[in-house]
Amino acid sequence: MLKPSSAPLHEVYDAALLDLDGVLYLDSEPIAQAAGAVETARAGGMRTAFVTNNSSRRASTVAEHLSELGIAATAQDVVTSSQAVVSLLQRRLPSGATVLVVGSDGLADELAEGGFVPVREARGVAAVVQGLEPRTAWTDLAEAAVAIAAGALWVAGNTDSTFPSPRGLLPGNGAMVQALVHTTGRRPVVVGKPEPELFRASVARVGAERPLVVGDRLDTDIAGANRAGLPSLLVLTGVTTREDLLAAPPDHRPTYVSSDLRGLVTAHPDAVVSGDTARCREATAGPDGASDDSDDALRAMCSLAWVRSGS
Ligand SMILES: [Mg+2]
Repeated sequence: MLKPSSAPLHEVYDAALLDLDGVLYLDSEPIAQAAGAVETARAGGMRTAFVTNNSSRRASTVAEHLSELGIAATAQDVVTSSQAVVSLLQRRLPSGATVLVVGSDGLADELAEGGFVPVREARGVAAVVQGLEPRTAWTDLAEAAVAIAAGALWVAGNTDSTFPSPRGLLPGNGAMVQALVHTTGRRPVVVGKPEPELFRASVARVGAERPLVVGDRLDTDIAGANRAGLPSLLVLTGVTTREDLLAAPPDHRPTYVSSDLRGLVTAHPDAVVSGDTARCREATAGPDGASDDSDDALRAMCSLAWVRSGS
């Protein structure tokens, strides 16, 4: 069930772990209201970490992009899945270990800076790391298959099935991971959302005691927050539609919902279900739909749909 909050969320939680694509920008274009909401949250004392499953861009590149969109950010504010891959390898492998990279040069650079020797051939490698790189070829997957079969530790930045583009959904890192699962019969250790590793790294980075996960995807951001035991805010500026949200199974349901990032700096009134209708302040929802398209009506719709689903 949605949780009410009489105070704005940025006053209740001390840090926001913000997803990027679909929350702050879409196809590199800024999303309306997002920059202003981040500014208001920060002015109120909330810390912010920008958390991305994408391992192809360096933290500094992401920070530059955010700054261009009017959201002040340094590399230190950005937590990428490639950084989480490196910290996992640092716990599991000796420094100087050789690591086969199926991914971008940025990921290879990150590994080198983390004390590993990145290579592109399966000779004497201790681990295989896999991140999205559009130029990945059959020959790269073949090297990985050989190394994995020989017992190398296999780590994937994320298992996103798709990658959003102006032309529609394209194969994501998870699609390439599946090719190797199919080949080897093994499964990688995954650091990206919905696995907890990336959230753990983000919480540590900003020193959060009461973090709030903010995202646009139910199966990564929200499911991951639920798995990590963290509260979450879903915004509808990315891939999730109202219909998706109403139909979400319990482990994919967020703590708070909002049409855009302004929900980070506003109160969240309670939605009360009574029989086959629900009310949130002035807005109502019933079998025929909602009274209007406000966020209050959205909350009433969610509460009604989730109560009626019986789970
Ligand atoms: Mg997203």
